[in-house]
Amino acid sequence: MKITEHIEQATKTLVSFEILPPLKGKTIQSIYNHLDPLMEFKPSFINVTYHRSETMFKKKADGTFEKVEVRKRPGTVAICAALKNHYNIDTVPHLICGGFSKRDTEDALIDLNFLGIDNVLVLRGDAAKNEANFEPEPDGNAYAVDLLRQVVNLKNGIYQEEDIKNGGKPDFCIGTAGYPEKHFEAPNLETDLMHLKEKVDAGADYIMTQMFFNNQKFFDFVQNCRDMGIHVPIIPGLKPITNKKQLSILPKVFHVDIPTVLSNAITAAKTDEEVEKIGTEWLIQQSKELKQSGVPVLHYYTLGKPKVIYNVVKELV
Ligand code: FAD
Repeated sequence: MKITEHIEQATKTLVSFEILPPLKGKTIQSIYNHLDPLMEFKPSFINVTYHRSETMFKKKADGTFEKVEVRKRPGTVAICAALKNHYNIDTVPHLICGGFSKRDTEDALIDLNFLGIDNVLVLRGDAAKNEANFEPEPDGNAYAVDLLRQVVNLKNGIYQEEDIKNGGKPDFCIGTAGYPEKHFEAPNLETDLMHLKEKVDAGADYIMTQMFFNNQKFFDFVQNCRDMGIHVPIIPGLKPITNKKQLSILPKVFHVDIPTVLSNAITAAKTDEEVEKIGTEWLIQQSKELKQSGVPVLHYYTLGKPKVIYNVVKELV
């Protein structure tokens, strides 16, 4: 079932979770162990993030270096299919432009269609670790809106592979990313919102946001979207702070602010347990307020902290 159908049919605020594929070498059981306790809350869907390969230089026996592409985490298609069958739940694979030619993307979409997965979250992805700026593949998509148009083309039966005639029209529900605190590359919030509107006009069915720790930023973002004529559902992405290092890592990696009152409380905490308690309580309050404001779904980035998310969601049901 599509995410938009879940939202249309909901009689209360929905809950969904997001996971990272485990490092290569681990089994699917590690994901089940992570998700099993959270299934008690009957999430409407589970997102699986995508992680592009990294370029590394491995020393050879003769002392020279060899450039190799190393993929640390498996792709999302197989994991989404496994979760869908194991839990009988809708899954949302993240699809990115980075590292994909348009034909690779088409193959992934065809695989998803075979597997009965009808939701995708389309993203550009970040620059590769060895690049200063994002570089698309020579025959790849440059922006999320280009990838989105490719998915929409497929929905209309237009394939990259010219030989495919009457190849079907897979009816994907398409999500796209939004940034309450602006995407870090955008010159200003208005330009960023203009590009977001472009994605919605091109066929995005809903927006899922970057994490934020101040609900007012989300409320302002939603208002700005509505004022610009963006009327699709907007799903808040939520993450707990669980250790002191995140006070500098989260702003650096995700370009989000942490409110002073929260950062002061975490800085003053004496133990890791205390930090986790403060982060959990903050997320509970954020979630309660968002729920009261009528958001369609509360989407939690569980990223290695299923117990914290369990303790948060338990307070909401
Ligand atoms: P875009 O929408 O393409 O925007 C990128 C930048 O370009 C923005 O500054 C935008 O304003 C600008 N822009 C957009 N269109 C144009 C245009 N036509 N001309 C000029 N400028 C333009 N990354 C992963 O690698 N894997 C994941 O699984 C993943 N999941 C994510 C989930 C969510 C909910 C979010 C919010 C982010 C996720 N990311 C993920 C990170 C994301 O890939 C990065 O933030 C990336 O830098 C931007 O992706 P985007 O889809 O927002 O790009």
